[in-house]
Amino acid sequence: MKYDRTYNFSAGPAMMPEAVLEEIRDEMMNYRGSGMCVMEMSHRSKVFMQIAAEAEQDLRELMGIPENYKVLFVQGGGTLQFAMVAMNLLKDGTACYVETGTWSKKAIAEAKKYGNVKVVASSKDKNFTYVPDCSDLDIPEDCDYVYICENETINGTTFNTLPNTKGKILVSDQSSMFLSKPCNVSDYGLIWAGVQKNVGPAGMAVVIIREDLLREELDPKAPVYMSYKTHADNDSMYNTPNTWSIYCCGKVFKYLKSIGGLEEMFKRNLEKATILYGFLDSSKLFKATANPEDRSLMNVCFNTGSDELDAEVVAASKKAGFDNLKGHRSTGGLRASIYNAMPKEGVEALVAFLKDFEENHK
Ligand SMILES: *Cc1c(COP(=O)(O)O)cnc(C)c1O
Repeated sequence: MKYDRTYNFSAGPAMMPEAVLEEIRDEMMNYRGSGMCVMEMSHRSKVFMQIAAEAEQDLRELMGIPENYKVLFVQGGGTLQFAMVAMNLLKDGTACYVETGTWSKKAIAEAKKYGNVKVVASSKDKNFTYVPDCSDLDIPEDCDYVYICENETINGTTFNTLPNTKGKILVSDQSSMFLSKPCNVSDYGLIWAGVQKNVGPAGMAVVIIREDLLREELDPKAPVYMSYKTHADNDSMYNTPNTWSIYCCGKVFKYLKSIGGLEEMFKRNLEKATILYGFLDSSKLFKATANPEDRSLMNVCFNTGSDELDAEVVAASKKAGFDNLKGHRSTGGLRASIYNAMPKEGVEALVAFLKDFEENHK
């Protein structure tokens, strides 16, 4: 591989497109004649305002975001959104959560601090290896929103069908699948995504929120930063935003447009995942852990059934030039995160390595 880089299967922060990294490198010392690096630039300067405006515009075009939705760039990563969603959208009613793994559990725990929470479906009974049927949930009349983690990064499952919310607002954590396939934004009231999984540098979340959900007043003790309206009213520049992440994410948005947008990205992601799951399904040693209908295209969880052998795979994979194949500490086993920026060649090389490993462990 060029630059002697490894195929990095990290769940996040994760790989970025090489073409984007090269552009960033080329602009590092002097961004387009400004005489400075983007890191050194005032967020209120004309040059940076242009960078931020283009990032938003490109994202709007990529996802087809309707006019009545705001796009916000918020710091605090994904975790802050667990609280922010509840603080802004949970009023005097009930927040309904679908529990599908680690990240929805965290969201539920956080929301409970702010009001009434009901878990309307769960896949806990089978260790979060599937997505429950959400076609007829028991949603109370006073439901403020229905919340899902659309792709569970740690458990390797994904929603192929959105829940029937019975007219209530759908909120989705898309962190580990953001921009991996076309998305019909108007199906949602709010979409948020930590960017370090599938887009750019850590430390920021993109929030896409329908305008009528922006709330005038939060609890008077709530930090001003926690209000979506603060960010919406100030074009995400109420305070100094994560300028570097906005700049890098903007480049990734342009890159995705240049390759043909989300349809093309989806095609490539499907192809990559099919190669890897295809091998796992044919293997006698390795087994994919998620229910076949609910398999994530981004986070492929698998194991050998033996902790010792899993550890051997991880060690051998490092020697072979791969990185971060170890499963999350809560699930064990192995996990290959194959986000947008993982090239098909990386997946093919991984499959060749796993085949070889299997041959040598008969
Ligand atoms: C990583 C992740 C988060 C948390 O993101 P942080 O930026 O580390 O707080 C939340 N949800 C999902 C689905 C994730 O993959």
